[in-house]
Amino acid sequence: MKNIKRIQNQLNYLSEYAKRIAGVENTEESKEVEPKDPLLKINEVLDIQKDEIFKLTKNEINRIDLESVTNSMSEGLIIYSMDLEVVMINPALAQMLMPANPRGTGRLILNPDDSLFFERCNRPDLMTKFQRALINDPTIPRSDILELKNPKQILKRYSSPLYDRKHNQIGHVIIYHDITAEMEVEELRKDFITNASHELRTPVTSIKLLTESLMSGAKDEPELLDEFLKDLALEVDRMHQLVNDLLDIARLEANKNTVEISSFDVKSLIFESLSTVQPLAKSRDINLEFPKINESMIIKADRKKLRQVFINLVTNGVKFTPSGGTVSVTVEKSDSDYEFNVSDTGIGIPEEDQAHIFDKFYRVNKERSRVIGGSGLGLTIVKQIIEAHHGSIHVKSYPGSTTFTFRIPS
Ligand code: ADP
Repeated sequence: MKNIKRIQNQLNYLSEYAKRIAGVENTEESKEVEPKDPLLKINEVLDIQKDEIFKLTKNEINRIDLESVTNSMSEGLIIYSMDLEVVMINPALAQMLMPANPRGTGRLILNPDDSLFFERCNRPDLMTKFQRALINDPTIPRSDILELKNPKQILKRYSSPLYDRKHNQIGHVIIYHDITAEMEVEELRKDFITNASHELRTPVTSIKLLTESLMSGAKDEPELLDEFLKDLALEVDRMHQLVNDLLDIARLEANKNTVEISSFDVKSLIFESLSTVQPLAKSRDINLEFPKINESMIIKADRKKLRQVFINLVTNGVKFTPSGGTVSVTVEKSDSDYEFNVSDTGIGIPEEDQAHIFDKFYRVNKERSRVIGGSGLGLTIVKQIIEAHHGSIHVKSYPGSTTFTFRIPS
């Protein structure tokens, strides 16, 4: 009995509390409710208030939704009031402004501030001009590109006027896209086209000149005819090699990381590749040393692509080694990978060039490479193939010795 009384008191208290938070006065109606039945009272209050409660929840949801939308946007967002007070910055924009200190971005979100734009902008005057335009012509949507420094970032921004429900302008919304990566790819693409056309122009110009000379009389002098035809064949070979390399790069980049894996004996692959380069080695008096492997070594890799890796590396060894020298290939298997070494006793690669030799079209000595032949794409192709196998490659070199070491997971 005592317990029931206590529960009744608690329910009464709860019903009063429910009325208070719902803002319901003690109406006649509510007074009529049996004081003994506090549950009924709570129910009644909830009934009267259900629309209000529902509305509140909906508003709450709207607020949370808006926040989660701006929080999960990958675009940066900043909201200004009419007099350019920063009202809000979303996490993506805070991260764009503080890429080196992602932990610090929380402060920027809680205390929105756009001063970092002015500090990091390559052209702070453009920032000022943009803001002045927002004040002078607040209703006009705009877009422009902003370059930031430390680190370099390129942002594209779009500004639109912000209106309330009654279509009164209350500020400005500005969206920022980080287009740094796209711009870099575009830059690389432009460089690639410039380099490729430049490389193609050299043999094409030679072929044109040689053909013109032959046509204007050289064809009638047997000695010249012979010499010019040999030169023509050489230039055509060069162009053929370059076009093949360009196609390989294009294919590798289009199907990034696509490899056709099969199981095969790596020993027979190395022998096959070395045999392909043997005629060139012989013509230059270079000794090719085959690896000493007795047992069969089964590897899972893209056979055709791995063959190209060996051919490119061994051909380079032969090209950059004076006659009488040696190019050798070794292989070792560990628990986790295969390690291959392609070494030569050649001219070596200067230390300052070693970091660049895998870049497209990079050659240590353009003139020498032109005479020897080569597009500057061979090592780029090698690296791309090895990385597509989740492997790695590095070079160790000094005058008289170069070793390329690469690993492929077994
Ligand atoms: P290429 O097709 O011109 O040989 P690569 O990409 O294969 O281009 O090589 C880039 C440059 O790296 C070469 O032009 C050469 O200067 C240097 N290089 C590559 N391999 C060797 C090597 N074994 N010894 C000395 N220099 C090398």
